[in-house]
Amino acid sequence: MIDSTALYQLSYGLYIISSSYEGKKSGCVANTLNQITSVPEKMSVTLNKNNFTTSIIEKSGYFTAVVLSKNVDMSMIGTFGFKSGKDEDKFKDITYGTDNFNLPYPMENVTARFTCKVVKTVDVGTHVMFIGELVEAVNLSKDEVMTYAYYHTVKKGVTPENAPSYQKPDENKGWRCMICGYIYEGDILPDDYICPICGATADKFEKL
Ligand code: FE
Repeated sequence: MIDSTALYQLSYGLYIISSSYEGKKSGCVANTLNQITSVPEKMSVTLNKNNFTTSIIEKSGYFTAVVLSKNVDMSMIGTFGFKSGKDEDKFKDITYGTDNFNLPYPMENVTARFTCKVVKTVDVGTHVMFIGELVEAVNLSKDEVMTYAYYHTVKKGVTPENAPSYQKPDENKGWRCMICGYIYEGDILPDDYICPICGATADKFEKL
């Protein structure tokens, strides 16, 4: 048997993975960053094939990752997790730095940053796993790091459909944001309601 809810017991952190190619910057939220070897230091990250960021990493051969702290602004998760870099420059309204490889990384409410040079790309079906050799690693703050569990239970965050850990919700009551999937648990959705995850207005919600 497969009880998919057992997968909820896995622990993860939450990261923003970015890259740039020919002046085009992109980034996305991921919970799939891991250190996989120590000599040399290598990391992996697994991203959906449909993510714009994935195509930018494939072209540039590099990615950066920042570790998000518990203080992270949910609007930043909305920008990097639920919008496409195809349509807009996700970095336009946020404070970001650039590493020695000229890749962008968000600077606010992050605890560390990494830059990896891709040494292997593995097709895993819906997603691509990038294996990278670590070329930069910097501690940025001593804030507490965000865990995936904290994001769900305290921040009331949701998982976008293109994440490897996405599971279809039990849809029975309330209203669902058609942009990000956030569920408002209540019979009446206020007209001036704004999605706490992606900033969508009430007309973007559908009744369940
Ligand atoms: Fe939303």
